[in-house]
Amino acid sequence: MPARCQFPDMCHSLEIRKVIQIQNLWFGTLKQLLLMGTLCYICFALVTDKLYQKKESVISSVHTKVKGLAEVKEETIENGEKKAVPTVFDTADYTFPLQGNSFFVMTNFLKTKGQQRGLCAEYPTHRTLCHSDKNCKQGWMDPQSKGIQTGKCVVYEGNQKTCEVYAWCPTEATAKVPRPALLNSAENFTVFIKNNIDFPGHNYTMRNILPDFNKTCTFHKTKDPLCPIFRLGDIFQETGDNFSEVAIQGGIMGIEIYWDCNLDSWSYHCRPQYRFRRLDDKITNESLYPGYNFRHAKYYMENGVEKRTLVKVFGIRFDILVFGTGGKFHIISLIVYIGSTLSYFGLATVFIDFLINTYSSACCRSCVYRHCKCCEGCVINEYYNRKKCEVIVVPNQTLKYVSFVDEAHIRMVDEQLCGRSLQDVKGKKVPRPSMDFRELSRLRLSLPDARPNPEQPEQMQLLTEVKTPRSSSPAWCRCGNCLPSQLPKDRQCLEELCCRKEPGTCITASELFRELVLSRRALQFFLLYQEPLLTLDTDAADSLLRHGAYRCYATWRFGSPDLADFAILPSCCRWRIRNKFPKSEGQYSGFKSPY
Ligand code: GDP
Ligand code: ZN
Ligand code: ZN
Repeated sequence: MPARCQFPDMCHSLEIRKVIQIQNLWFGTLKQLLLMGTLCYICFALVTDKLYQKKESVISSVHTKVKGLAEVKEETIENGEKKAVPTVFDTADYTFPLQGNSFFVMTNFLKTKGQQRGLCAEYPTHRTLCHSDKNCKQGWMDPQSKGIQTGKCVVYEGNQKTCEVYAWCPTEATAKVPRPALLNSAENFTVFIKNNIDFPGHNYTMRNILPDFNKTCTFHKTKDPLCPIFRLGDIFQETGDNFSEVAIQGGIMGIEIYWDCNLDSWSYHCRPQYRFRRLDDKITNESLYPGYNFRHAKYYMENGVEKRTLVKVFGIRFDILVFGTGGKFHIISLIVYIGSTLSYFGLATVFIDFLINTYSSACCRSCVYRHCKCCEGCVINEYYNRKKCEVIVVPNQTLKYVSFVDEAHIRMVDEQLCGRSLQDVKGKKVPRPSMDFRELSRLRLSLPDARPNPEQPEQMQLLTEVKTPRSSSPAWCRCGNCLPSQLPKDRQCLEELCCRKEPGTCITASELFRELVLSRRALQFFLLYQEPLLTLDTDAADSLLRHGAYRCYATWRFGSPDLADFAILPSCCRWRIRNKFPKSEGQYSGFKSPY
């Protein structure tokens, strides 16, 4: 095929996962139940949260109108006598234009009438009190001053003296706010809120004044929840606050209009919900500037002099917060939701996998009565765990595996020996890989059927060696057949390893050692199996056979090739092999780490 017609390499393959299927009724049922539960939850969330819809936030405009009249008894001083004169306050008197979605209702005030620019004594505070002119400084002022000091100390009232200032005189007296609030009756005022909303993405507009709107209604949470006319006192009742209390110092109240619109024709619903929330800090004490107030002045001319009435206004600011979403069926949203939930189905496997992990190794170790019913499950889980995971260690320069014939497990040593014999290093226990009997039976075919003939000089030598262990074997040897290492001093400890942990018969005495590791015929068979045209009658043949014998021993005793690469042969086996397949000249080089 011409090159240009060929697909790129990646097009020639497809990677798919290989899975382990556990045939277990219990786990199977659990998985199905978890899958059903997940499916139910996904459907439930889809319907209740309408996740098949495209949602859009609301944009809106708000317009408010406050109505109500209040009678206020203002205190005035006429001919030196204090008098309470009743005055009427209407919308223009108690509301102030505010920016944004807010309106303000005055509930209390402090008036300082007839102020004009001139020289007068400051209101007495610890900062402004003085004894003589020395305490006052000409031209001095700070953000809290009422005016600019002239440097004189003058009488304020009685024998109280304060610094003279150039300011709006008389200066404002920081008197106590009237209690109860002067416009306490403002709780009967009503506010009419007009709110228009828009969902531009859905091309839909709506307003809170419905066609059947009754102009005389008043909002009530249960009886009339859609009426857009609110009595101020009722708003405070909803949040559990006392209007009369808040009216004294002022405060901030939030009116939330929440729109949750379902614009699908088959389940259309789009009505506002009103909620109220106190927004200012109601628990602050007097010293932390409680409530809400500001100053406001009315200017006028009297006999050609500009004068003003200063009013410190206390009141309630109402902030109207409009939020909500409008949703309409959207196929892409539905597909995205389904896609995002697919991973939840994997949770069943993750959970069961977690159960298997938790109730396998740790549980098996803690199980005292290994034959009780509960331990049975642990043993099965341990089996599943072994089947599914393969532990891989980092192939370090220092990594070594050791196997003793009198121990069921293998030991992993991953540290520098630093002069200690390998025999004495504890290491970490690793389970011996399980045998594959198919491989073994194939191996059996390759072995000579004939029993070893003790008359052959080789076999005779072996048997005599086994029967009479050397008395001069090194201190770390437990079988009596080991020899000291010939390696340079710094590497000697690597070869100081016996075939046994405790004293006893040497592994070289076993028939299998002879048949698997020492049999020239079997080794030749293995080498030829790998390289059929190999010539095994040269001088180098012994070296090849020796290395092959090392490999045979390692594969036999350590099972997996991963372990065999790092397996250290016991000294007795190493020398037995070297005696059988010796090197004609030079020293043996010993174990080299493959990495
Ligand atoms: P040489 O033939 O003169 O190099 O010396 P040796 O008879 O000691 O054989 C060296 C080869 O055998 C190297 O490839 C070593 O990695 C390998 N070998 C030697 N000892 C061991 C051992 O204890 N375990 C393993 N797995 N391989 C070994
Ligand atoms: Zn030994
Ligand atoms: Zn031994």
